[in-house]
Amino acid sequence: MGRFLTRRIHTDPTLREPVTVSFNMSIPKQCPWHRWIAAVAVTASVHPVGAQLLAPSMAPNSHAIHAGVLIDPTDGSVRHDQVVLVENGVITQVGVGVPIPRGVPIIDLSDYVVLPGLMDAHVHLTARVPRGSRLPAEAARTPMARRLVVGVLQARETLLAGFTTVRDIGNSGDYVDVELRDAIAQGIVWGPTMLVAGKIIAPFGGQSRLNPERPELGEIEYLYADTPDAMVRAVRQNIHFGADLIKIVVDDQAYLYSTEDIALIVREAARAGRDVAAHVLTDQGARNAIEGGVASLEHGWRMSDATLDLARDRGVALVTTDFSISAMEVYGWPDSLVQARRLLVVDRLRRALAHDVTVVFGSDLIWASAERDRGAWSIEQLASLAESGATPRQMLQILIANPSRLMHLEGTRGRIAVGQAADIIATRKNPLEDVTAFQDVVFVMTNGRVAKAPSP
Ligand SMILES: [Zn+2]
Repeated sequence: MGRFLTRRIHTDPTLREPVTVSFNMSIPKQCPWHRWIAAVAVTASVHPVGAQLLAPSMAPNSHAIHAGVLIDPTDGSVRHDQVVLVENGVITQVGVGVPIPRGVPIIDLSDYVVLPGLMDAHVHLTARVPRGSRLPAEAARTPMARRLVVGVLQARETLLAGFTTVRDIGNSGDYVDVELRDAIAQGIVWGPTMLVAGKIIAPFGGQSRLNPERPELGEIEYLYADTPDAMVRAVRQNIHFGADLIKIVVDDQAYLYSTEDIALIVREAARAGRDVAAHVLTDQGARNAIEGGVASLEHGWRMSDATLDLARDRGVALVTTDFSISAMEVYGWPDSLVQARRLLVVDRLRRALAHDVTVVFGSDLIWASAERDRGAWSIEQLASLAESGATPRQMLQILIANPSRLMHLEGTRGRIAVGQAADIIATRKNPLEDVTAFQDVVFVMTNGRVAKAPSP
């Protein structure tokens, strides 16, 4: 006989007398999805919000929030006892004693610290690679339908951890990221607001060594572009199929993209108003990318001081992607490599901050973890920032203000101010006093809709 699940869920945490609903779900044990579905159902019960059962489009998006402490991440300023009025997903008033229109539900966050939602500028929501496997092999045996299901799960986990905006930066198969972005934007499923890159553009081979008998398998994840014509066509293909930005791999093969190659790609992307993000592992790769005019350097683990200065002078952001120890272990790296990599990335982060480079947070997780959901694990990737000596104010810039500028969203997201989208989170501890505060995000609102609320 199958497993029988019953849940009682509060439909609206803002109601004084929460309405409860029950649902029954019978899952045949022989169903191959049995364990997965059960896991999703249990996760849903952790967050006592009716939104877990409703489509996001059905949740109300007008509220009045009473914030005990309100933080502005752009300057680190703090205000107390504020009312934030949200109407139709947009912040319409902020201040002390703001009148609340009749019928607008009040959310009491007077015991919490309220700030704009976090941003992660380097995610792979539709990738979930088991320990010991590699992405190309996984991509070859994973249907796109499965990747979309994984994306729905990981988008929700990412949102509930406090990330209300992300940049999905490739490794999403045949534009699964575009479909996920649109499903979230249309209120079909829960997730952060997404900017997506479509397929990664790279010299032949992408980021791996191909099987010479089946070279086309690499093209599940990459558009190989080795000539100017192919580069222009690859940019146009991505934009045609819905990409918000272009991602290139500069230096994962013996043949790097040159400054001229990159400038051509940047020019073609700019014609359609798109930025270019560049995966760079070497100092030379980073230099080529900066001189070619990219908007962001992804990883940049081996950048010299001179290259960091060039990035600062040209206004190119560094998206960190510094894996936590646990992430490197799941990746399968030996202890000796884990320690050496840690020293390397923390050192370059410390230098980047000292040289006033615009640093932006990126989690870059592609693996499956048995112990953690994708959102909580992404928060764990903040460890290198703390180790590098980033101050709490710098952390807020790296997590909110800088990514908002990188994504050209500073006018619409990243502040709790009139006219901004209501992407709002709350923590128990004050992140200006304690950098571990983000491990305990108790409230998440996306575009005015409550996705997570403190337990009653
Ligand atoms: Zn990545």
